[in-house]
Amino acid sequence: MSVFQHVEFEQHEQVVFFHDASSGLKAIVAIHDTQLGPALGGCRMWPYESESQAITDVLRLSKGMTYKSALANLKLGGGKSVIIGNPRRDKTQALLESMGRCLESLGGRYIAAEDSGTGVADLKVMSKHTSYVAGIHDRPGLMGGRNNGDPSPATAYGVFVGLQAAVQARFGNQSLQGLKVAIQGVGNVGYRLAQHLHAAGAQLYVSDIYPDAVAKAQAELGARVVSSEEIVSLDVDVFAPCAMGAVLNDTSISALKAKVVAGAANNQLESEYHDRKLHEKGILYAPDFAINAGGIIDIYYERVGYDPQQVKKHVEGISSTLSMIFDRSRVESRPTGAIALELAKEKISNTR
Ligand code: NAD
Repeated sequence: MSVFQHVEFEQHEQVVFFHDASSGLKAIVAIHDTQLGPALGGCRMWPYESESQAITDVLRLSKGMTYKSALANLKLGGGKSVIIGNPRRDKTQALLESMGRCLESLGGRYIAAEDSGTGVADLKVMSKHTSYVAGIHDRPGLMGGRNNGDPSPATAYGVFVGLQAAVQARFGNQSLQGLKVAIQGVGNVGYRLAQHLHAAGAQLYVSDIYPDAVAKAQAELGARVVSSEEIVSLDVDVFAPCAMGAVLNDTSISALKAKVVAGAANNQLESEYHDRKLHEKGILYAPDFAINAGGIIDIYYERVGYDPQQVKKHVEGISSTLSMIFDRSRVESRPTGAIALELAKEKISNTR
């Protein structure tokens, strides 16, 4: 498989493959763009069925980080890493330490944070061998209390305020009381989003591939549990994808009854053309890299000085960024994803 010719390559600066036979590590780091600063993005661990799936994922995720940080006005570039393996079965101390050594060898061009399949504890293990990991330092929590460095609470809060902005734009009402929301994936971000929505009076429907995750949402938040297949086509107001990418495709868009898509997952659109398809169907799509920027904002402040009030305010800015994108989409009758991308690219060329 060619990487340079890959449809998702789009001028990546660097793609590095790491292999360590002793720990079993197989990882790929993709650095898309460092014009605004070092590439910062999550390290995902996932049981990819093939190397080509892993390459496609890391390239798409890495590009998304470039645009996410630019749109959120952060001096960071875009990059991402993937470890090929099952996080519940293959994650060992040796494998994580090995990943730490690989990150160190990149000299700080890429800095890893948590993502699906990895958490703060895993990054702390990597940090034994590198300083190029982020989101691992104990600090004040965004919503009070303390936080161990996990960016998920900030991501979930950003998705929550972004979802409110989308509801306002689509239904003309910011109240979430009685609103039906279907959340696909109740992991680190999805579960916290469910907590915010529950507190705001929304009616929740959840799915996850792990029964323990949905059981908790059912017991603690009164969420209704549905299958992973059903969740996309439920008769609800909002669909919130909080699991994996490419969930917005020909099949799912035809089945969608929700009028708003607003969730945390990265790379929700299977291809660019699905942005237009949603627009034509009258579904308001909150572009993923705009709505899920809370975590990268949180991590950015860990690097430059953490003041929870300042971070919260910056995360709340996701709401106004999205409202501007929605307004422009309505006035210009163009899909939201295309507008968000245009804005991010403008910011990169104006800032550098
Ligand atoms: P996570 O691994 O903690 O949670 C994802 C959940 O989705 C898991 O419980 C998993 O079992 C479930 N899942 C996987 N496939 C599914 C399917 N087909 N149907 C239903 N559920 C499924 O990950 P997370 O940190 O909560 O991240 C969720 C998404 O948000 C990812 O796409 C991630 O890249 C994105 N994101 C996360 C952050 C963050 O701060 N953690 C920031 C920005 C974006």
